[in-house]
Amino acid sequence: MAQILIFLGPPGAGKGTQARVVARELGIPHVSTGDILREAARKKTSLGLAAKAKMDKGELVPDDVISPIVEERLSRPDCREGAILDGFPRTIAQAKFLDAMLERVGFGEPLVLNIQVATDSVIKRLTGRRTCQACGEIYNVYMNPPRHGGICDKDGGRLVQRADDNEEAIRIRLKAYEQDTLPLIDYYQRKNALRQVDGSGDPEAITGRLLSLVKTHDYL
Ligand code: ADP
Repeated sequence: MAQILIFLGPPGAGKGTQARVVARELGIPHVSTGDILREAARKKTSLGLAAKAKMDKGELVPDDVISPIVEERLSRPDCREGAILDGFPRTIAQAKFLDAMLERVGFGEPLVLNIQVATDSVIKRLTGRRTCQACGEIYNVYMNPPRHGGICDKDGGRLVQRADDNEEAIRIRLKAYEQDTLPLIDYYQRKNALRQVDGSGDPEAITGRLLSLVKTHDYL
């Protein structure tokens, strides 16, 4: 039965970076709610504009806005073999919605990988983050700089900083994580669905840890 992999962890844990690589490795889609909302904001849809106001401040968008978007995405044919969810669920209400939805759409129990990082490294990761406007590749000016200034190594696209990667929005995002998302660890632990992953060290080592956990779990 197809299964969803959920990447959990605080902002700056490396969820997005890792989810991209692991999804490519497993040949399944990477479904990032942050990317979906930023794309909607870029296109200036009404959803996108409403979400952008929240996102730029570091606040969560409402559960009833994001949940149907995830359901629609996971119902598409490319997710039939599974998918990686990055950024969802982020609240207990979203987790409950997801449980019911996975049953509706015909998926097994999800496997939840919790990426653990020390909070003091998170700020540096977030303020140093730059993303390629063209392909979405993620860099860090302190830890993983591009070879040529503000240009993507892969396709020469322009590297931009996310509007919510400033200190004030980061503070609010970390608070939202602690209040709303941290309870999910307990929620999934009770279901015996949670696996802990050390998110420190270089990105390849972390990918290795994630993939070996996925493989021992007989995923795909
Ligand atoms: P990060 O994990 O680094 O904070 P994301 O790219 O996952 O970044 O999310 C960016 C923003 O998008 C969040 O701060 C929030 O405003 C919004 N968002 C993304 N996913 C959700 C979600 N599941 N529920 C509510 N808001 C969300």
